[in-house]
Amino acid sequence: MWLGASRKNTAKPLGIAWPVNSILALGIHFSYNDEIVYNKNFEQKLIKMKSLLNLWYPRNLTLYGRITILKSLAISKLVYNTSVLTFPTKFIAMVNQAITQFVWNKKAKIKYRTMIGPKEQGGLDMPDFQIINEALKVVWVRRLSDSNGTASWSHIPLSYLQPVGGLFLLQCNFDLKLLKVHIPIDFYKEALCAWQKINCSTPNTKKQVLNEIVWNNHHIKIDGYSVYYKKWHDAGLTKIEDFFQGNRFLAFDEFCSKFKIKTNFLNYYGLCHAIPQKWINILKGNFTEPLEKRSEKERISLDKLSCKSATKFFVKSKFVTPTAERRMTEAGLKEHTIRLIYSLPFNVTKDTRLAIFQYKIIHHILPTNSTLFRDSIKEHDKCHLCGERQTLIHLFVTCSKARLFWSLFSNWWNSKNGDTITIDKNEIIYGVTDNFAHYLGLNLCMIIAKYYLYTASRKEEEFYFDAFLAFLTNKIKIEKHKSKSQINM
Ligand SMILES: [Zn+2]
Repeated sequence: MWLGASRKNTAKPLGIAWPVNSILALGIHFSYNDEIVYNKNFEQKLIKMKSLLNLWYPRNLTLYGRITILKSLAISKLVYNTSVLTFPTKFIAMVNQAITQFVWNKKAKIKYRTMIGPKEQGGLDMPDFQIINEALKVVWVRRLSDSNGTASWSHIPLSYLQPVGGLFLLQCNFDLKLLKVHIPIDFYKEALCAWQKINCSTPNTKKQVLNEIVWNNHHIKIDGYSVYYKKWHDAGLTKIEDFFQGNRFLAFDEFCSKFKIKTNFLNYYGLCHAIPQKWINILKGNFTEPLEKRSEKERISLDKLSCKSATKFFVKSKFVTPTAERRMTEAGLKEHTIRLIYSLPFNVTKDTRLAIFQYKIIHHILPTNSTLFRDSIKEHDKCHLCGERQTLIHLFVTCSKARLFWSLFSNWWNSKNGDTITIDKNEIIYGVTDNFAHYLGLNLCMIIAKYYLYTASRKEEEFYFDAFLAFLTNKIKIEKHKSKSQINM
């Protein structure tokens, strides 16, 4: 393959095979033609991933099971290319769409940005391709930093960063758009952008301002760009504290003698002027308005950076709290209780079908006659036992038959365990969170009880307590878990 200026050369000397379309090296396709490269490196991979997912479609998997398949089998098909190539935005959107389609099979019932969150916050750790992509790119930045400029591959990216201090840039509070550099390779830009998202911050206290690195700082601009004066940096000027002393900036002659720099006073005052007024107010202790709370994000330093910590950071900034949380807050549940409620299904049972069943109750997305009627799947929304409208709350709590069931249930539990529990509406729906560790067994029985009520209602059957007990015995036999020991059959 002819490269560089000779790329249009059509000669085929030496009697060897000259490629027409593309060549494959180390698993990546290279070609003059961007479309061919895009097709082979991205589209073909996505098609492979989708056909693998198609094999799993017909299986009766839970939400969680589908997410496991995605993470362990499907996404891995794209990881290698992601870690070495720049990714077209539209491609990321296509992958995320394939993910949603596979997880929900039809219309998504919980927001994408909720599903990506951790379980204890109401998510299901669903993969997000934008985050995977950015985390892999950030890992490359870490490798660049670790190379310390000695690895041969690092010479090219570092040569582009030379005008802004080379590796030093990675420590700065920079914004790529404001740097006076030209980086012609998208991969490097993408990686730096990903790192910038984690690294950029706004100082809000005197200590933080003094500690800010002046160079390449996106808050400090001259003529619309951030600044890097190599000579000044080499002379020892790095942070605000280096030239802001005793409540003021050093005077020009003090500055020159401290750093032994020969410069024009305009350059020096230009830099002092570029420091944001807000910072100077913070430094001098004059606040006219209360400081905004420092954003929650914690700065991760480069040497502690890993794919995992980066992913955690990106998930945290993208995650939105579940819509269902409002209902819980309105029911008077406190934040600590809500966290317990979210993790409860995954703590009391290893049966993912049961856990996801409870997850759907918490998020209020379990289909009942009222939602099936709304979606024109059922011709009425009535409860098969009492004729009232069957909502989730009616089915499990307010239906007279359900009330009777729960009173039998608590009698049964109390007589078996010498306990004196009563179960209120919130507990029926969300589980018993008081003395949680002690009530793992009770919570498991309650989820199984709801599962029984739900199955019976789908089959339009009466609720029989004895039938529930038989169902429970069966389930408990399958459940080989710590909560088992707490249940007295
Ligand atoms: Zn009813």
